[in-house]
Amino acid sequence: MRKIAPPRTYRVKNFGCQMNVYDGERMAELLGEQDITAAPDGEEADLVVLNTCHIREKAAEKVYSDIGRLKRKDGTAPIIAVAGCVAQAEGEEIMARAPSVGLVVGPQAYHRLPEMLSDVVEGKRVTDTDMPAETKFDALPPRRRAGPTAFLTVQEGCDKFCTYCVVPYTRGAEVSRPFADLLDEAHRIVDAGAREITLLGQNVNAWTGEDGKGRAIGLEGLIRELAKLPDLARLRYTTSHPNDMTEGLIEAHAQIEKLMPYLHLPVQSGNDRVLKAMNRSHTVESYLRILERVRAVRPDIALSGDFIVGFPGESDAEFEDTLKLVSQVRYSQAYSFKYSPRPGTPAADMDAQVPPHVMDERLQRLQAALSHGQLAFNRSSIGKRCTVLVDRKGKHPGQWLGKSPWLQSIHFTGEAAIGNIVEVELIEARPSSIGAELLQPAHA
Ligand code: SF4
Repeated sequence: MRKIAPPRTYRVKNFGCQMNVYDGERMAELLGEQDITAAPDGEEADLVVLNTCHIREKAAEKVYSDIGRLKRKDGTAPIIAVAGCVAQAEGEEIMARAPSVGLVVGPQAYHRLPEMLSDVVEGKRVTDTDMPAETKFDALPPRRRAGPTAFLTVQEGCDKFCTYCVVPYTRGAEVSRPFADLLDEAHRIVDAGAREITLLGQNVNAWTGEDGKGRAIGLEGLIRELAKLPDLARLRYTTSHPNDMTEGLIEAHAQIEKLMPYLHLPVQSGNDRVLKAMNRSHTVESYLRILERVRAVRPDIALSGDFIVGFPGESDAEFEDTLKLVSQVRYSQAYSFKYSPRPGTPAADMDAQVPPHVMDERLQRLQAALSHGQLAFNRSSIGKRCTVLVDRKGKHPGQWLGKSPWLQSIHFTGEAAIGNIVEVELIEARPSSIGAELLQPAHA
């Protein structure tokens, strides 16, 4: 390839989970350090980073169609970088199939983006899907930007090896970031304006470390320390595994005021045989016992979950067990997906793959049950007074949007500004949002 002009503008397109959103923000900061600026909305960018997700079947194929769509009418194309989990899983394959791609970089190597870009400018095509010993975090520039809500990755990778999941292969083994680095990064994003931090990890509650005094602590210990940051108002964490829900973390929901009353705890199925085939290493009973404990210490807590329908071999009766679990738990919200065979995962080779039309029918029934639960939870909140962290303008004049402590989407009109925490009364329940009345004028 011939030499090309160094990029002046970039666009990062994130697909998939919040971890990808966090990585996308860090890649944008890296490019900003090279004086490459974000392309204004609607304008072509010199460099496009496709930050991909590998969770769904067609994920990889979708990347190739996205690459194709970047070709301009005049036949030219921006510098194309493929990052994220499809980059990690497919690596050189992407280079072979898509000649217009200049660089492929995995989630553990994107701290090398600037030097890889200079190679591309020299006319080379470069791939890096290493999982280096020193973590990318050591090489990333300090955080300088944050909105009212910010993500903070505290843990990466996963050792659980659920039989349907690619994460252990694309993100590697579980790694907990050092306590001191997390405290430093939290300080920086709060100084940059964040009022709420969501701690991220594929298995965030597997985080372990040592506090400033060298004492071994778990996620609840980290949350307790971060809650001491004066200008930080709210803390959340996601995504957790039932087997790493310690008694200490459960108790933290009653003891730490800044820890929001919201717990996202995936379960995937309501049937023990299916859970075993998924290698989830917990049962429905043990999952329910954890939720009982959490509700005992924090009765108003909002519970959220993840579900997969149509896992190989899932019978009608086993699916009914999932519906039973949903009505028993009464989730405030939840995410639900059709099973999707992922290359290289044990479940992809399992017999009794469920026909697509059966999966569609089951997903519809599950999502109807979950929406029913979400509306019921929103209705049960009517008349309550709570705080809302304003995170953006609404589409109507004087309308503001934000999240309640239970992570409900709230809209209200009145005097406010982005980043303010206001007090409201919840007055009108809708399936996925709540209308509120402003009580306490905004205070910083
Ligand atoms: S715990 Fe989550 S990230 Fe880990 S293998 Fe299972 S589904 Fe994947």
